[in-house]
Amino acid sequence: MRKYIVAGNWKMNTTVPQGVELAKAVVEKAKELPANVELVVAPPFTHLVSVAEALKGSKVALSAQNCADKEKGAYTGEVAVDMLVSAGCTYTILGHSERRQYYGETDAKLVDKVRLALAAGLKVILCVGENLDEREAGRHFDVVKEQTENVLFHFTAEEMASIVIAYEPVWAIGTGKTATAAQAEEIHACIRNVIEGKFGKKVADDLTILYGGSCKPSNAKELFAEPDIDGGLIGGAALKAEDFIAIAASF
Ligand code: PEP
Repeated sequence: MRKYIVAGNWKMNTTVPQGVELAKAVVEKAKELPANVELVVAPPFTHLVSVAEALKGSKVALSAQNCADKEKGAYTGEVAVDMLVSAGCTYTILGHSERRQYYGETDAKLVDKVRLALAAGLKVILCVGENLDEREAGRHFDVVKEQTENVLFHFTAEEMASIVIAYEPVWAIGTGKTATAAQAEEIHACIRNVIEGKFGKKVADDLTILYGGSCKPSNAKELFAEPDIDGGLIGGAALKAEDFIAIAASF
């Protein structure tokens, strides 16, 4: 069965007390939501243990925004998957365009990270998406296809059950520009097709594909009405509990 998910990527925002307050507000407002949507919040590493405490007893899941590509050891500044699990995470975002753009995240590195995350029992939200030049050159389908294949074709159909894909056109992230519902849908359908070609129809039908890129309460309903858009990865609008919940209520 396909799951509907709204995940909030807090990026490098909020202090620990502000994050705990935001998490508590999300938990409180989430009580108004129907049970068909899963909520996930992804605070910075420093907040995970405290936010896990604030989420206790709720249906809101905890995600990291990244993980190390090594299991443990002398890798100063890195955070391993086992640490994330012990802090209360059940998800990690991987391959966000900001990691690819500013921190040299490659598809090859992502294969290692996804492998470690799955082995530790984490679910993965893998981000893919084209930048503005690639879209203007008409390469958006190819770029998204390549990113999806380069990472996910290393895994099995069983492992795909723990993977969510987020399509995030880089030109729409934090810019206020949203892909139209039709632009997003055609890419989501293409991703599902790529997955079906490799893993079969059941895996493709069950796969959750999120849209990310300036998704907000005013455009979520139209986006989520598309047959291949199964929720959102939300940046800016996830920093206000009422906007985040309003997006989730758009299903
Ligand atoms: C994101 O970076 O994951 C994102 C979708 O950001 P925003 O909603 O702010 O565009």
